[in-house]
Amino acid sequence: MLHSDFVHLHVHTQYSLLDGACIIPNLIDLARRMKMPACAITDHGNMFGAIEFYQSCMTNGIKPIIGSEVYIAPKGRLDKTFSAGEETANHLILLVKDEAGYKNLMKLVSIGYLEGFYYKPRIDKEVLAQYSKGLIALSSCLKGEIPRSIMSGKEERAKQLADEYCAIMGKENFYFELQDNGIPEQREVSRELIRLGKELGIGVVATNDVHYLTRDSAKAHEALLCIQTQTTLDDPNRMKLQTDQFYFRSGEEMKALFKDTPDAISNTIKIAERCNLELDFKKTYLPHYAAPEGTTREKFMRELCENNLEKRYPLSTCPTSQVAPMGNLRSWTGGDMRQIKERLDYELKVISKAGYTSYFLIVWDFISHAKSKGIAVGPGRGSAAGSIVSYLLGITDIDPLRYNLLFERFLNSERVSMPDIDIDFCYERRPEVIDYVVQKYGKDNVAQIITFGTMAARAVIRDVGRVMNLPYADVDRIAKLVPMELDVTLELALEKEPELARLYKEDPRVRELIDTSKKLEGLTRHASTHAAGVVISEDSLTNHVPIFKTSDGQISTGYAMGSLEKIGLFKNGFPGLEDIDRYSGGDKDNQQGQ
Ligand SMILES: [Zn+2]
Ligand SMILES: [Zn+2]
Repeated sequence: MLHSDFVHLHVHTQYSLLDGACIIPNLIDLARRMKMPACAITDHGNMFGAIEFYQSCMTNGIKPIIGSEVYIAPKGRLDKTFSAGEETANHLILLVKDEAGYKNLMKLVSIGYLEGFYYKPRIDKEVLAQYSKGLIALSSCLKGEIPRSIMSGKEERAKQLADEYCAIMGKENFYFELQDNGIPEQREVSRELIRLGKELGIGVVATNDVHYLTRDSAKAHEALLCIQTQTTLDDPNRMKLQTDQFYFRSGEEMKALFKDTPDAISNTIKIAERCNLELDFKKTYLPHYAAPEGTTREKFMRELCENNLEKRYPLSTCPTSQVAPMGNLRSWTGGDMRQIKERLDYELKVISKAGYTSYFLIVWDFISHAKSKGIAVGPGRGSAAGSIVSYLLGITDIDPLRYNLLFERFLNSERVSMPDIDIDFCYERRPEVIDYVVQKYGKDNVAQIITFGTMAARAVIRDVGRVMNLPYADVDRIAKLVPMELDVTLELALEKEPELARLYKEDPRVRELIDTSKKLEGLTRHASTHAAGVVISEDSLTNHVPIFKTSDGQISTGYAMGSLEKIGLFKNGFPGLEDIDRYSGGDKDNQQGQ
C-alpha cells in the first residue's frame, strides 16, 4: 500500500529541456519507494512526457497527474513588445482533473507554441478562461504573477490577481502554492499567501518545484543549466537555482518544512484525489479513406488488388519454369492462381476486420500520387513486405508468396498494435508527398512528428567538459575513450576502457567530469522534427495531441512516435533512417532518435 501523506504536484522531468534532470522511470521509482500514492508532471510549457509518464505511473501503481507549468504573457499572448526589465512571462501550474481538462491543457499548450511564443510558449488569461474546465491551477514559484507582486510590495495587486485567477478557474480550483527551497524570499511570500488565503478563502498547497531527484544531483543540475544557457560553471552571472534543495523531498521532509501549515500538506492529497484522468489506449483514430461514389472502401480495395493480379503474377504469359524456385526458398509452382486468390481473400478479410482498410488505401493513395509525379519510391520495408495486398497495391515490390513471407507477422486477428509500413521517398522530393497528404486530409489533421535528442555518453562528456571550462583537447581525448558502440553508457565505458578507468581513478578533474556526466547522461537535450514520419488523424490533431513548433517554425506533434502509437494515432513511416541525422542537422554524437 502506498501511504505517504504528501504528493509532489510540481515536478520538472527531463522534458523541461536542459532544466529538469528527472528521468521519468527513475522519478517514478523514487516516488514508489517513498510510498507516494500519486505524482504530477509539470514541465515548462509542454506536455512532451505526458504519455510516457502516465504509463510509467500506471505500471508502478502510482496515480499519474498530468500537468504543465505554463507561461502566462502579462500583456496578452499576441503582444510581443517589451521594454528592458519588463517580464515576458509569469509561471502558473496547471493540473488535469479529467478528460475535459486533459483536452483543454493540450489546447492551451498548443496555443502557447502556435500563437504566444516569445522566447517561451506563452498563453494568457483570455485563453485560460476559455479552456479552464477540468483544470486546477496553483500560483507557482517566485516567478508566478502573484508571488512577483508580493515581492515588489504590491499587496493590493496580489489580492486583485488572486480574485482574477479564482474567477477564471473557479475558487475551488485555485490554490496558493507554498515553497521552501531555502530561499528567504519564499518564506516572505508564503507568509503573505497564507494570510491572503485566510482572508479570501483560498487553499494553500506545498510543493518543492522539483528539478532533480536527489540533493547530491544539485551540482550536476547546475551544469545542465549551463549547457542550456551556454555559459560555464565559473561564470558569476550564469542563470542558476539559488539553492541545492530543488530535489524530490520525502514526505517526512516536506511535513517538517511545513509543520506550521498542515493544510498545505494535506491539500496535496486532496488535490491528487480530485485528479482522475483515465487515458484509453485501446482506441485508434484512423482517418477514413473516401471510396469513389457508388462503392465501398472494401470493394474498392479488392478491385485495385484484382486489377493488378495480372501484372504482378503474369502466369498466362509466363511458363512455370521462369518463375522458378529461388534457392532454398519455398518451391513456387507459379501456375496456382487459386492459391494467390485465396491468400488475397484471406488478407482482405483480416484487414477489414481489423479496421485497417483505410490505412492501406491511404498509403496506396500517396504512393500512387508520388509515382505519378515521378518521385522515386523505395520498395517498402518492414513487416509490410509479408502482405500480398501491399504487393498488389504497389506499397511494396516484394512478392510475399515467392519468398514465403508471412502475413501474420504483419497483421493478424490478435494483433492489437497498428501495422507498420515504412516507405522511402526521394529525400529532396519528400516534402511534395507531405504537401499532398496535408492537402488531402486537411491541415489540422496532419502533422510531422517531434523527436528528442538525448545526451549520449560521448556527447555529455563534451557538454560537461565545456561548462567545466576544461581544455578542449583534454575533453576530446576523454570523450574518444568512450567506445563507439550502440547503447554504450559511461558506466560500461569505465568497465571496458582501462585508460578511462585509470584517468577516473587518478585525475580528480576527470572524476568530476565523469561523475557529473553520469548524472546527466540520458537526459533529453532538444526537440526537433522527425524527418521520417507524418501522423494523420480522422479529426483535428489538437483533440488528441498537443502541437509543438520548432524554433525554425516547423509544426509537429508534441508527442513522439511511441506516444502517438500508444494513443492510437495513424503514423506513417516516410523515408529512410539516414535522413534523420541529415534533417535535424546535429552532431551525430548527440543524436539518439526516439
Ligand atoms: Zn516556476
Ligand atoms: Zn517549476
